[in-house]
Amino acid sequence: MVPEPRAMIFDLYRGTTHDGPGLRSTVFFKGCPLACRWCHNPEGIAFTQRVWWEAHKCIGCLSCRAACPTGANRPREEGVFIDDAACVRCGACVSACPSRALSFVAREWGLSELVREVLKDRHYYGQFGGGVTASGGEALAQHSFVAAFFRELKREGVHTALDTSGYAPREALEAVLPFTDCVLYDVKLLDDGRHRRLTGKSNRLILQNLEVLGGEIRSGRARCELWIRTPLIPGATADAENLSAIGAYLAGALGDAVSRWELCAFNNACIGKYRRLGLPWEYEDIPLLGREEAARLREAALSAGFDESRLAVTGILASGEA
Ligand code: SF4
Ligand code: SF4
Repeated sequence: MVPEPRAMIFDLYRGTTHDGPGLRSTVFFKGCPLACRWCHNPEGIAFTQRVWWEAHKCIGCLSCRAACPTGANRPREEGVFIDDAACVRCGACVSACPSRALSFVAREWGLSELVREVLKDRHYYGQFGGGVTASGGEALAQHSFVAAFFRELKREGVHTALDTSGYAPREALEAVLPFTDCVLYDVKLLDDGRHRRLTGKSNRLILQNLEVLGGEIRSGRARCELWIRTPLIPGATADAENLSAIGAYLAGALGDAVSRWELCAFNNACIGKYRRLGLPWEYEDIPLLGREEAARLREAALSAGFDESRLAVTGILASGEA
């Protein structure tokens, strides 16, 4: 018998409103080839398993340290710290912890188990025009599983969305596309030098894949919507030069293939994840974007002729919701 496909997944959110149209369930696939410095899901970057720690659950008994066979559980002023380089992921500390303060960040799911799980929410997919989104990490890094997952969901009549950085072999995108209703595609920085410095990788492959996707949509060979997403990260992506360059690129190279372009305002709500992993984060104290700044960036995005009716600023701004 052929074994069932399996995937490493680090989270499943229900009732999400920012991962595609309507009210959705979002599945987060573990592992990402990029290393964006502002990443909101640091536990999803590595392709390997990892242990993390929750301070508010810890009673300081140190059973975890006694159980660790490698010395990866190190003393630190803030509390328990797992040195990932020394950890062999045996789970002895997780089992030894009496208060469940330690856990693995991800777990393996079988295809049928995951399909069953997300179909529990199908009543609101229909009612609120939503569906299921595959996110990450980078969902295309596990493209065979995502293609099989979406194929099952399409059989059930569920709307599917792929949230991707675009940094993947073209074959990975082509494998998932026939079962995808909407692609949420990140374009973070148009300047390749800045892209390399801030994400760890060139944007060349990302833009090549995007142009192929745009061509497939315009020719009618791909029957999905294309949403572009640009995170507005202060000091990294949120400047007029970057926004106007992306706007010119989208208006020129993609044209009417783009249904929507979202400028996603930064927030630092994920700081707790960095703390659980014992990692520093340079964006810890960065405040929310102000309304005036958001309006200025929006103007820059539109300056090269991108259609205003398809542009949206999303996320929380300093003086309220966008
Ligand atoms: S998973 Fe095993 S090796 Fe890693 S910190 Fe826990 S006990 Fe130590
Ligand atoms: S075993 Fe659990 S509760 Fe005890 S110190 Fe370790 S993490 Fe904290």
